[in-house]
Amino acid sequence: MSTDDARDQQQPARTRSCATALVCRACGARFALEQSIAFCPDCNRCLDIDFDYALATRRLAELPVAERPHNIWRFEELLPITDAPAQARVGEFSGYTPLIRSRGLAAELGLSKLYLKDDSTSRPSLSYKDRVVAMAIARVLELGEEEIGCVSTGNVGTAVAAFAARAGISPYVFYPDRLEPMKARVCRALGALVCQVAGNYDEVNRECRRLAQDTGLEFANITLRPFYAEGGKTMAFELVEQLHWRAPDHIVTAAAGGTLSSRVHKGLIELQTVGMAQTDHTRIHIAQPEGCDPIASAILAHDSDIHACRPTTAAHSLAIGAPGDGHLVIDAVRSRGGTAAAVSDGEIFECIDLLAATEGILTEPAGGTTIAVLRKLVADGTLDPDEVVVAVITGNGLKTLDEHPAKPWPSMIECDSEAMHAALEDLKHAGAGAPSA
Ligand SMILES: *Cc1c(COP(=O)(O)O)cnc(C)c1O
Repeated sequence: MSTDDARDQQQPARTRSCATALVCRACGARFALEQSIAFCPDCNRCLDIDFDYALATRRLAELPVAERPHNIWRFEELLPITDAPAQARVGEFSGYTPLIRSRGLAAELGLSKLYLKDDSTSRPSLSYKDRVVAMAIARVLELGEEEIGCVSTGNVGTAVAAFAARAGISPYVFYPDRLEPMKARVCRALGALVCQVAGNYDEVNRECRRLAQDTGLEFANITLRPFYAEGGKTMAFELVEQLHWRAPDHIVTAAAGGTLSSRVHKGLIELQTVGMAQTDHTRIHIAQPEGCDPIASAILAHDSDIHACRPTTAAHSLAIGAPGDGHLVIDAVRSRGGTAAAVSDGEIFECIDLLAATEGILTEPAGGTTIAVLRKLVADGTLDPDEVVVAVITGNGLKTLDEHPAKPWPSMIECDSEAMHAALEDLKHAGAGAPSA
């Protein structure tokens, strides 16, 4: 054994993380990172994670960007995992999804600098949830646990299933009564143990919190939530870097529990704090379905309280009526001069088709919600045609295709080139009459 190996065995290797403590933003209480605690015992608020930004600034400068991995750990100084072996087992091939300069959709909407941050291609499970779940899994490994649970509107479950399999731990997924069946099937096919519970997300979430207390099972998005949430910041880091460190004028993204949008806000602030980019001009706009828009309605009503609702929308991944991070989203949107809008399920499916036809990207209803809201914000003048706009495509449509209002399936024709020629003419004729999208 070399002396280096011997030293590694005595002292666990640390990442470059500059996380310092768990902190309650309501009362200021602080807890050591080693502690397994997610909610403030006094305020019951979900804890946040504090960083030493002076240290992060120095560490970020020490290692050139060109030498950093193209994955979610690229700017690990600003991420919460400190145990290097745990971190190394997770997310090596996750994150760093493409930022696509839109041509077709941009032209259709009348925007000149529209970009699509495409998490529909995210590894391993085709949604933005790979970013947050990667943090939760790394945290569970850091704690030395071999099991993880989660409550999911759909995509958290598939992400937990995939990451847990690779990390060699057991995943338990609690799904509410309504979600796209394909998501539950994918989750089971990946080997997760799945419970479908007769309640909506908010009800199942509440009971899972009790279950976690009673059993000690760590839940990715409940007991590990402070760590889980930090993964959302990687969205901000990546898209600003992909714009060559010039933060966009606008970011439009869907919100359910509000983790992504609030942590994109935190990530933008951090980039400015450590001197990597000017970000305070960037506005964040929130997209929700009309059938579940508690955050959007609070923002539009200039209300500082969220009124929980009972979701009725086909955008199941956005069907959270009591959003845990809702107040953080309101703050993120207001402090940046952004806004919110809600759109109907009809508009959502229409915009799934619009994105598919103009960009060749198949998204799920959450992505359709974002595009429908983007279209609305252009129409009402919130977005200027020449400003830089990033729309976040948070999930893939393959998992939700069965829910998509079916287009009439063409009848089978004879296998004969003449019949096929006639059919081709018919298709061309039908195509010519279709809308330009
Ligand atoms: C979970 C989810 C969202 C919303 O994310 P929050 O962080 O809960 O606001 C958006 N899109 C997809 C595809 C999701 O799975």
